[in-house]
Amino acid sequence: MIDYDVLIEKFKSIIKENGLKYTKQRELILKFLYEHDDHFTPEELNSELKKIYPDENIGIATIYRTLTLLEDSGIVTSISFGTQGKKYEFGLKKHHDHLVCVKCSKIIEFYDETIEKKQLEIAKKFEFQMTDHTMKIIGICKNCQKKQ
Ligand SMILES: [Zn+2]
Ligand SMILES: [Zn+2]
Repeated sequence: MIDYDVLIEKFKSIIKENGLKYTKQRELILKFLYEHDDHFTPEELNSELKKIYPDENIGIATIYRTLTLLEDSGIVTSISFGTQGKKYEFGLKKHHDHLVCVKCSKIIEFYDETIEKKQLEIAKKFEFQMTDHTMKIIGICKNCQKKQ
């Protein structure tokens, strides 16, 4: 995992490149994602940040804008769960794939060596230079199946 200081330097230069101002609020959004190994909607981030930093006044608009900036620069990745929205997670960590529940929007992470290898084989077969992939299994989680 990337060092926090290195990450902040990277973030500072991205903000500068985009002609924006570096603010503590923006940093706190990134810090939260860096420290929490999970997936959050902008609204969830908003309420979590309000709990931790009640005096900081980080608005939802700032959260949206910062997430877009972070995603465009590859620091954060998002997983969409249908029409309901997107969840964000810190992107510079070990590669993994996701199972997404369409009922409760729960996201489960997994890593499978066979799938990873197979994708490389397919890319090779098409003489395709693979730089990344996303793999998302969509369905209904165990909990939600019980409620049906
Ligand atoms: Zn569910
Ligand atoms: Zn994930």
